[in-house]
Amino acid sequence: MSESNVHNVVIIGSGPAGWTAAIYAARANLDPVVYIGVPKQDPGPVLPGGQLMLTTDVENFPGFPEGIAGPEMMAKFEAQAKRFGTTVVGEDITTCEFSNDGSPHTLHTSGGKTIQAHAVIISTGATANWIGLESEMRLARGGGGVSACAVCDGALPMFRDQHVAVVGGGDSAMEEATYLTKFASKVSIIHRRDELRASKVMQERLLSKDNAEVLWNKVVVDCLSETDQHGNEKIRAVVLEDTQSGERSELEVKGLFVAIGHTPATKFIKDTGLEFNEKGYIDLKTRSSATNFEGVFAAGDVADAKYRQAITAAGMGCQAALDAEHYLGDKGLI
Ligand code: NAP
Repeated sequence: MSESNVHNVVIIGSGPAGWTAAIYAARANLDPVVYIGVPKQDPGPVLPGGQLMLTTDVENFPGFPEGIAGPEMMAKFEAQAKRFGTTVVGEDITTCEFSNDGSPHTLHTSGGKTIQAHAVIISTGATANWIGLESEMRLARGGGGVSACAVCDGALPMFRDQHVAVVGGGDSAMEEATYLTKFASKVSIIHRRDELRASKVMQERLLSKDNAEVLWNKVVVDCLSETDQHGNEKIRAVVLEDTQSGERSELEVKGLFVAIGHTPATKFIKDTGLEFNEKGYIDLKTRSSATNFEGVFAAGDVADAKYRQAITAAGMGCQAALDAEHYLGDKGLI
């Protein structure tokens, strides 16, 4: 922190973007502070470290030829950021007041504190989408066998040797379904079109499994439940609607995993005047991390509706730290 009690750089979020920004900012002697957030259900699990905390094997991040578990990778990022003097705070930033007149930005924390920073890097990532059915959300909240994270929940005894379903046709759906084939007796992928969006390699990996099938042109319109021997409500079946014929059918499953994309974590900055694109992601100015506020930068999935990879998020974190450093230098603040 500078003499005036204003931080040089506050980084909000602790995924690959946030930690990379911290590594660069710390090595530039900017004394960055990272607000890593508080674990929560929203409605699915949201953890410090972000989506990689819910990922088993990361096989496409250069430097890890054998692959690495997502949480282990995030622990390494954090250790590297701390090695250069990053301060880590286990709180959320709940609201912000950004200024465009060169005065510091004001941030409020979940711990009830108000802090100020000359530069802010927003790297809060994105969270899983849900279909939006009342029955889906009720069962998800109550541990009734509906989840948006197979990697977190798929190995639970309730799904072992059972028939489960995955909704979605992208890489996430393929990854989740492939993971589930290890535990479940059968995995049905429910996709709303007749063609998968996922990359060929991910499709092939899944389709090579004997216990996986794809149900084409189907959407889930309801989740049906039963009460188990302990009095808890559990999923029994999903009601499917054919997108071509409108015909409805029931598929008996003991688990439903929703993998239909993500929404950027921007709720806490909605009313700040920050500009968002039509998909709700932070709108970056040209090929940099600059937003419409001076000294406010964005990096990673919160500002990237397209690539959303650990490596691209890390690259954006690097850009944001360099942009923040240049900004502070240009303003004579460092
Ligand atoms: P995505 O690529 O946006 O795919 C979302 C899928 O969900 C699409 O198939 C979409 O159907 C379907 N969908 C969306 N809304 C739906 C709804 N309301 N009801 C039913 N289906 C719905 O999202 P993603 O799979 O999460 O992947 C996001 C990014 O992360 C991608 O860039 C992906 O490559 C990357 N990723 C990479 C890996 C990996 O390489 N290991 C793993 C996971 C994700 P339509 O196809 O009809 O639009």
